[in-house]
Amino acid sequence: MVTSRIDTDILILGSGGAGLFAALHACQAAPELSITVAVKGLLGKCGCTRMVQGGYNVALAKGDSIERHFMDTIEGGKWLPDQDLAWQLVTLAVERIRELENELGCFFDRNPDGSIHQKAFAGQTFDRTVHKGDLTGIEIINRLAEQVWARGIARLEEQRAVELIRTKDGAALSGVLFVDMRTGEYVFVRAKAVLLATGGGPTMYRYHTPSGDKSCDGLAMAWRAGLPLRDMEMVQFHPTGLLAGAHTRMTGTVLEEGLRGAGGHLLNGERERFMGRYDPKAERATRDIVSRAMFSEIKNGNTSPHGGLYISMSHLGADNVRKQFKGMVERCADCGFDLAGGLVEVVPTAHYMMGGVEFAADCRTELPGLFVAGEDSGGVHGANRLGGNGVANSTVFGAVAGDSMAAWVRREGALREPDGAAIESAVATCETPFKNRPAGSNLESLREKLFEAMWERVGILRDGAGLEQALRELGSLNDELDRFALDGTNRAFNLSWHDWMNLKNLVAVSRVITAAAIARKDSRGAHFRSDFPETGPLDESAFTSIRFDDVAMRPVKFTRVRPGQTLLKDAA
Ligand SMILES: Cc1cc2nc3c(=O)[nH]c(=O)nc-3n(C[C@H](O)[C@H](O)[C@H](O)COP(=O)(O)OP(=O)(O)OC[C@H]3O[C@@H](n4cnc5c(N)ncnc54)[C@H](O)[C@@H]3O)c2cc1C
Repeated sequence: MVTSRIDTDILILGSGGAGLFAALHACQAAPELSITVAVKGLLGKCGCTRMVQGGYNVALAKGDSIERHFMDTIEGGKWLPDQDLAWQLVTLAVERIRELENELGCFFDRNPDGSIHQKAFAGQTFDRTVHKGDLTGIEIINRLAEQVWARGIARLEEQRAVELIRTKDGAALSGVLFVDMRTGEYVFVRAKAVLLATGGGPTMYRYHTPSGDKSCDGLAMAWRAGLPLRDMEMVQFHPTGLLAGAHTRMTGTVLEEGLRGAGGHLLNGERERFMGRYDPKAERATRDIVSRAMFSEIKNGNTSPHGGLYISMSHLGADNVRKQFKGMVERCADCGFDLAGGLVEVVPTAHYMMGGVEFAADCRTELPGLFVAGEDSGGVHGANRLGGNGVANSTVFGAVAGDSMAAWVRREGALREPDGAAIESAVATCETPFKNRPAGSNLESLREKLFEAMWERVGILRDGAGLEQALRELGSLNDELDRFALDGTNRAFNLSWHDWMNLKNLVAVSRVITAAAIARKDSRGAHFRSDFPETGPLDESAFTSIRFDDVAMRPVKFTRVRPGQTLLKDAA
């Protein structure tokens, strides 16, 4: 059934910040190697790095320091981050931002004296977010893509990775099985080193921000390959997703945090401000607190027409709002809302997965030949990701992965024969909906069941009974997907088929999230259980590590700083 086979030295899955940085660094470190970037969409046009609005955290300015950035990251992550990975993030972000400007051609906003402008972002003790207006991601991805196009880096576009294939003895990775989305044919790519950089993507929630091409494919493949995933219960919700009805993909997209930062008010269905009842900082509390308060208001039934709440900016002066938030005003107007002078319906929206594949500082995973970077990886952010640390994470670790894959391939890389039976089995799984009969079942109703289970029971507020119920529902949903039958046999650009594969992966990863959430019997950062509302002793912090169905709680190693301590000299 596999119609073509390709060999390459380095194979990169995904063309976001992580994938493209890895390609450029590998190319620079070892120009003699063949490098292939394979991506579900078109290179430079898909994924979430392109969607970055706010910006990139890096300690550049006088008065700031990498120690301060580190402490913000650790405290924001509620002491769950892997401290060595977090340290790498904050130190290498400085190099990457210089590389982005001085070598790759990005141009970020400047101060009148010519230095890089850095703005405030929530949860940080210093204004350190580098940006290009509110279109920072487009600047980064366009420049990265141009540089990749200018080099001899091969591209496999509209190619969907479906399974990691080990060698026959299972001891190493041989390569990756793909579906060529343009033809529906199966392609096997053998590689000496493979980077998983498919960007996570919590699109299993009814309201979500990530791009539509993301369905946790990389995480699902890693989980099926038996790799350990950590912190998977930690899913970040952004408080202000646009709520414009089920008919538009604009629903769920982010209305930026700056609206609350500038003094925007959140109102319930009665048009009353409610945040003061939940936190003294009101609308300026952190994302997790605001999202939880909003979810509670929604649960109380005091909602807007679409079942959400409102954001109101008009008290700040309509002209001022139009000037300060031009892009947001236009986005809202497209959906029939007047942000400057009226009310806009909003709802918390799933934004980012802090959890992912466990990895070493050089981006190696447990499986020889497989590396991971970006949102597919776990451990850098712990229980919460600071706004601005996401794109820093993908570019920093993408570059690390590129360097270390190049060195690894030179040192010990070899093309290894795949386990033919594993390829056949993966193809057979993909073919399931063409073989099942009779056709006629409805994917939309299955998606709705997934949304219902994840939004209601594994979302912003959780408890043991709801999580156990969700686990059962997800199991049944998986069985229903296994029985699902597609109409017809045409595989070229068969979007229903890809939707089915998306749902299979989303259900698999949803089960992992739920199992991890059941195991964590406390409340921290993004994870809140009403039956275990206490944080617990920070000194005894442990992270969840899940392999297949086994969840373990592993102690966090405080390699640089312990709870109660700080690396900031002036705070001592
Ligand atoms: C609306 C929005 C705004 C954001 N704003 C900010 C911000 O201001 N600051 C910040 O730090 N972070 C922000 N983030 C988070 C940030 O975008 C991500 O953390 C980061 O860009 C992830 O980079 P990545 O390279 O891991 O993944 P991505 O950039 O998402 O790239 C993933 C790639 O993998 C590909 N892919 C997926 N599945 C497959 C498959 N099966 N086979 C082949 N390819 C596949 C995709 O097509 C894509 O090319 C924002 C996110 C969103 C959604």
